[in-house]
Amino acid sequence: MNHEPINEPLSAGLYIVATPIGNLGDVTMRAADVLARCDAVACEDTRVTGKLLKHLGISKPLWRYDDHSAENDRRRLVESMQSRAIALVSDAGTPLISDPGYRLVREARAAGVSVTSLPGACAAITGLTLSGLPNDRFLFAGFLPVKDKARSDMLTQLSGIDATLIFYETGPRLTKSLAAIDKVLTGREISVARELTKMFEECRTGSAGELNTHYSAYPPKGEIVLMVAPPTEVKINPDDADDLLLEALATLKASQAAAQVARITGLDRKALYARAMELRQR
Ligand code: SAM
Repeated sequence: MNHEPINEPLSAGLYIVATPIGNLGDVTMRAADVLARCDAVACEDTRVTGKLLKHLGISKPLWRYDDHSAENDRRRLVESMQSRAIALVSDAGTPLISDPGYRLVREARAAGVSVTSLPGACAAITGLTLSGLPNDRFLFAGFLPVKDKARSDMLTQLSGIDATLIFYETGPRLTKSLAAIDKVLTGREISVARELTKMFEECRTGSAGELNTHYSAYPPKGEIVLMVAPPTEVKINPDDADDLLLEALATLKASQAAAQVARITGLDRKALYARAMELRQR
């Protein structure tokens, strides 16, 4: 089902259709074609999708769908895919990527419905390509939790991963996230990509501290992709670690100081803990 001959009715099934993340010029020819020829469009917000369809000169029945929709609604939607072509779009970008659709796709596949996905804009990939951070290995981690402890726990969980980390972020939460990253992923290069594909697109790179200072002075507007470079292996003489440990011990418990210095230096956390206890005795 990868090629849908133009001017013929679409075969029945589910079409996952990526839409622009800001710049309407990024709608693909194939997305416009499938939206024009499908029987109905399942979407997050009928007003948002209505605007896109209007821009494309298309009028279609719009059915509101998200993964919290009632089981019955989802079952009916999957049933209708047996005989009709249904497009799934989200408000922006690629459906299912921090957006609804996962349950629908799963159930459609289980029901033997034909499912195909039309690639297009995705903020995570657009941000990564713009950031200049290593892209040979990356991990998309969605939104960071809002609560301080949950956020810092998640960052700790991700701290050992040898890949660029990609998060979705909002303007009002950016500085808190940068402060948490500064604490947990100390010393890493950070990139903030904002308003991608739009008039005020910007991508700013620096340390978490530098970016926090900047965005505290100029609160960011719009949508944000926040990226963190992989850990770098710092070749450090264990004696030099004493300075870092002493600095950390000024505000942290020995175990926390050891963990922080281990993250920065790549040195063994247990050895650092033992050394932190010695330094504390002095
Ligand atoms: N499905 C979408 C995709 O493929 O990128 C993401 C949807 S998620 C609900 C929305 C988040 O994506 C925003 O909070 C922001 O972090 C990111 N985002 C979406 N559009 C963006 C843009 N134009 N510039 C920067 N980030 C964007």
